[in-house]
Amino acid sequence: MKVTSSDIVISAVKREQYPDTTIPEFALAGRSNVGKSSFINKMLNRKGLARISSKPGKTQTLNFYLINEILHFVDVPGYGYAKVSKSEREAWGRMIETYFTTRDQLKAVVLIVDLRHPPTADDRMMYDFLKHYEIPCVIIATKADKIPKGKWQKHLKVTKETLDIHPHDHIILFSSETGLGKDEAWKVLGEYM
Ligand code: GDP
Repeated sequence: MKVTSSDIVISAVKREQYPDTTIPEFALAGRSNVGKSSFINKMLNRKGLARISSKPGKTQTLNFYLINEILHFVDVPGYGYAKVSKSEREAWGRMIETYFTTRDQLKAVVLIVDLRHPPTADDRMMYDFLKHYEIPCVIIATKADKIPKGKWQKHLKVTKETLDIHPHDHIILFSSETGLGKDEAWKVLGEYM
């Protein structure tokens, strides 16, 4: 898809603040610092729309981006940041559970993982949670530029096996540095719309 417009429409804390539209949505989830903002910016051809390396744990909102007036990206605050208090973590859990389990417009969750390392326990928990609710997932294995091409398949295999990926879910090699995987990611998201 060729992105011609993208803008943040709301940073929502509560359900009442979610945009009152029926257009399809994709939520973006991942561990803090995994490269989620960079993924969003790359997909939207924008440099600073999603804030790169904003203070982890600070943005406890769901950020809705309207793209080409026809779909939303919903940026979910990153998880797995150690310095977040228990009460903040619980608030985060309530917010994402409400969103993931009640939002009819949600077509799929884009789960961003780091291709270089096996998915973490938090990544696995997030994936299992999404599968429990039978939400389709697109796994983005990012930072591919940081490992040699000859090792990509081996790392992909570890990622697939560690998450125990459902046969219907896609996994896509990605790099926000080089743009690798961008066209494929748009193609797969298009299939869910
Ligand atoms: P977020 O916390 O998940 O939103 O992560 P960011 O997008 O802020 O990225 C965290 C760090 O990883 C930043 O220094 C980015 O420049 C870097 N980064 C993100 N994606 C890539 C990538 O595909 N390749 C490389 N080499 N660095 C990346």
